[in-house]
Amino acid sequence: MIDLHTHHQRCGHATGSLRDYVTAALDRGVRVLGLSDHTPMFAEEEDHALPRVAMPKSGFPSYIAEALALKEEFAGSIEILVSTEADFLDGRTDPYTRALSAYPLDYVIGSVHMFEGRDIFDTTRWESVAEDELSAVKSRYFREIAACARSGLFHVMGHVDALKGNHPALGAVPAPAAADEMLRAIRDSGAVMEVNTSGGTKMCGGWYPEFDLLERAHHFGVPITFGSDAHVPERVADQYPEVAKVLGDIGFRTWTVFRRGAAVTRPLC
Ligand SMILES: [Zn+2]
Ligand SMILES: [Zn+2]
Repeated sequence: MIDLHTHHQRCGHATGSLRDYVTAALDRGVRVLGLSDHTPMFAEEEDHALPRVAMPKSGFPSYIAEALALKEEFAGSIEILVSTEADFLDGRTDPYTRALSAYPLDYVIGSVHMFEGRDIFDTTRWESVAEDELSAVKSRYFREIAACARSGLFHVMGHVDALKGNHPALGAVPAPAAADEMLRAIRDSGAVMEVNTSGGTKMCGGWYPEFDLLERAHHFGVPITFGSDAHVPERVADQYPEVAKVLGDIGFRTWTVFRRGAAVTRPLC
């Protein structure tokens, strides 16, 4: 088992220490665990711009140091990868590139949480959006993910259709042209797409992305990886067996993980 997407208490909206997530992973038989808490808001002036969203900038060095120490401590029993989930803010990526280049990260997850000026999980954002606009909104979100991939700053594209999180109707709305553009952009960038099982913690339920996107990803040759996006230790590797089964049925044979930025494949089983 692998799980490349986990959080912990530093971000202000998850529980448990890094060690708690390592222990949970060991208990479940996870062989490769990525510690990937939310990146500080490096594009903001303040040290701790959003205390319920991400750790302060000044807290990042101790996060990395603690993760590296755990990697060494547990080297004999589990492979720990050191990572972070960064927001993709189109046009404001420089502060992130500068800050992150100072650390020996194994990979960086690129995610779009702020879209067209608002948090994607903010339920009130949908109040004024008519049903016949949803396909266009979803297409624009996919194009933002494509831009995230083309930026070349990230190794894993996080929860690529999370826009549906708290507006389930967006899940089934078709946006095929933009979806295909996004999948080709991910493949061509050398990044991978994660299958993220945290949809179950939101109104949409299920996984990111939808089944049809997984099939299209296979068709286009997009490599994949697994992330629980656990914000509580109990969710580490959540639904891994179900995901591996579905992906195997579609035709995927490998997961991709990253060591110091280099892609490594592991059998999907
Ligand atoms: Zn989070
Ligand atoms: Zn995220």
